[in-house]
Amino acid sequence: MEMMQEVFDKLRSLQDVLSKKYEIEREINEIPKALTTKTELLNRLKKTYIDKNAQLDEAREKTKRLRSRLTEAEHQREIYEKQMDLIKTQREYEALDKEIKDATEKEQQLRKDILREEKEVEELSNGLAKEESMIKLQEDELKKEQDKIKSESEAKKSLLKDLRKEEDKIVPGLDEEILFKFERIIRSKAGLGIVPVRDSVCTGCHMILPAQFENEVRAGTDILFCPYCSRILFYAESEAEEGITFHEEDQGSLADLFGEEEDDDAGGGGGDDDDREEEDEDSTGDDSDDEEEE
Ligand SMILES: [Zn+2]
Repeated sequence: MEMMQEVFDKLRSLQDVLSKKYEIEREINEIPKALTTKTELLNRLKKTYIDKNAQLDEAREKTKRLRSRLTEAEHQREIYEKQMDLIKTQREYEALDKEIKDATEKEQQLRKDILREEKEVEELSNGLAKEESMIKLQEDELKKEQDKIKSESEAKKSLLKDLRKEEDKIVPGLDEEILFKFERIIRSKAGLGIVPVRDSVCTGCHMILPAQFENEVRAGTDILFCPYCSRILFYAESEAEEGITFHEEDQGSLADLFGEEEDDDAGGGGGDDDDREEEDEDSTGDDSDDEEEE
């Protein structure tokens, strides 16, 4: 019994260490995901920025071309206007007058086009300035996040190291197979791998245990796993004042199977303890291992 108590104590300490360890391992694994989202957003912003910047270059180039065409048109009109001084006939005058009118119209159209393009350039520039500050903001945020994550994960890793050291201190002397099962249970059952049996109920899953099985747990000569939730069980005295009773939803069918009478038998079987210990002495081959451990 004392040996078993020691094993249970070890398992409980190990449970504290392991559940913390798994939690931190999970957190460390989650870290890159947070960064990926932010990095992706930043890349999208940069892509848009590059596209818009190309549009702006194009608009600027177009404005430049329009301006040079305007200069040409103005120049052409001035030439026509100079020719006006040299004309001799009405016919020549009309022809030249038409050229000047056409050139003026062309100038006006080009001025309109230039204004339109300049507006486009201005809008694109303003948009880009906004995008630029967005990118800057996002970059700053990412940097901050990276720094935070770096210091956090360093802290977590050192914590993990400490936990592993603690684990190494507890583990020697524990049966390897039990250890393997125990670790798996803690991983899958939200950090709880060893629970007390109270009033015939596994407090891990709240199922009522068969009376014979409960007696075996009470005897405490072997490591026993709950047949329903696989957690390691140890016996705890009934604590009616704590209000830990059967869960109604679980009670129905099983209460029928292992009826009141059997529960009473289990309660009265307390005197059997001594016999049981003697019976199981041979099977607790672990004892020698435990003694060697320190
Ligand atoms: Zn259970």
